[in-house]
Amino acid sequence: MNLVLLGPPGAGKGTQAKRLQDQRGLVQLSTGDMLRAAVAAGTELGRKAGDIMERGELVPDDLVIGLIAERVDADKGGKGFILDGFPRTIGQAEALDRLLEERGKKVDRVVVLDVDDDKLVQRITGRFTCATCGEGYHDLYKRPKVEGVCDVCGGTKFTRRKDDTEEVVRARLKAYHAQTKPLISYYEGQGKVRSVDGMADIETVQKEIDQALDGA
Ligand code: AMP
Repeated sequence: MNLVLLGPPGAGKGTQAKRLQDQRGLVQLSTGDMLRAAVAAGTELGRKAGDIMERGELVPDDLVIGLIAERVDADKGGKGFILDGFPRTIGQAEALDRLLEERGKKVDRVVVLDVDDDKLVQRITGRFTCATCGEGYHDLYKRPKVEGVCDVCGGTKFTRRKDDTEEVVRARLKAYHAQTKPLISYYEGQGKVRSVDGMADIETVQKEIDQALDGA
């Protein structure tokens, strides 16, 4: 099954994608993670994308489409993909449809995570991650049990994303509403959309996604 997770920044796409990956053996493809890795490695792609990401704008379609094509080809025989943060424009969605069709595949389901913009700013500006194992935390909702120590791996270094400041989050939300939200109608036209209340707690959202995937 190939699944697109659609929703604004901070809606919980990454968290839910990781759970789906563990549960269903699907491969998470996060263009945001791939671009951050390219920036950290100082590759040509990273140099092109870094400033754009720091402003909260979208990087050009051809750069992210190339990344996805490589990953789809690298995992040909697998059970399928969870696309997290891709596609983000109609051009990307059309390119994805073509790319999958050429390989005898398709997008099977699109799950939209619905959340309020005001809540998103609070969610995003408070989040941080264990630098060792990647476990996610939040200043208000999920602090480590022992201050400064990761609950999962015992690591003591934590990182925050550079683009998680309030100003950049507002720009990212603007890009979402202008360029990504129209994808909901695009996929509704293909009869693939199921909406889930992304304001609920992580376990409840996970259950609703399961129902959206296993139901008709
Ligand atoms: P994310 O981790 O999904 O929130 O993405 C972080 C940033 O990477 C975005 O604000 C964009 O600058 C860039 N980015 C990630 N995915 C895409 C995409 N599919 N199209 C364009 N830009 C993207």
